[in-house]
Amino acid sequence: MKVLKFGGSSVASPDRIRKVKEIVSKASQGQKVVVVVSAFGGVTDLLVKASLLAAAQDEEYKEILLQIEERHLGAIESLIDISKQSAVISTVKRELNVLEALLEGAYLIGESTPKLLDKIVGYGELLSSYIISEYFINENIDSVHKDSRQLIKTDTCFGKSHVDFKATNTLCENYFGTVSYSVIVTPGFIASSIDGNSTTLGRGGSDYTAAIYAAASGAKKLEIWTDVSGMFTANPKIVKQAFTIP
Ligand code: ASP
Ligand code: MG
Repeated sequence: MKVLKFGGSSVASPDRIRKVKEIVSKASQGQKVVVVVSAFGGVTDLLVKASLLAAAQDEEYKEILLQIEERHLGAIESLIDISKQSAVISTVKRELNVLEALLEGAYLIGESTPKLLDKIVGYGELLSSYIISEYFINENIDSVHKDSRQLIKTDTCFGKSHVDFKATNTLCENYFGTVSYSVIVTPGFIASSIDGNSTTLGRGGSDYTAAIYAAASGAKKLEIWTDVSGMFTANPKIVKQAFTIP
């Protein structure tokens, strides 16, 4: 078994997602592959922004929700055959309705607690992983979607929860040891508490999700795919002169 993680910029557009498919198809020849994905690039920031606006009772949050909806429906239209789109669209719309209700809750109360924020920001990964899994199925990859909240258990330090490794490792060993699909697509970043509330592992937490799965499943390899090649002297988005270290 191998774990492959793709960050937000690697899944930021349908074209990028097509490249991810190429990599996953090759990797899954002869072994099981766990694919961990981030939210489509920029979506987590949008979700945080929408929550803050809703909590400040600013109706502008509805605009952001619309942007998020267009982004995901656009990806479905671009990646999935027309004849198979309607089932995927209706699942995504159902999820978006719940997201809308959560934001409306923050708007009505005029407050967004860390617990509610974790529920809201997790939608980025939930939607991206579901759409990518459906796209893989559309491309005849033997793929299944698995919600990480069913595998990774944490305490209730909302915003940056700590993993309960005893519970998590048992759940992961049982699941990855018996699942028969070649590719398992999972959302990074999100988890759940023992009593079933959504939690998150902190911003940028998808790498951690991938490491948790790799360790718990005894995977031979963990690959973190990113949009810079190799190790840079600094973050090239900030430092223009950054170069790769040989
Ligand atoms: N989507 C989350 C974030 O933007 C987690 C991640 O991408 O690793 O922080
Ligand atoms: Mg990252």
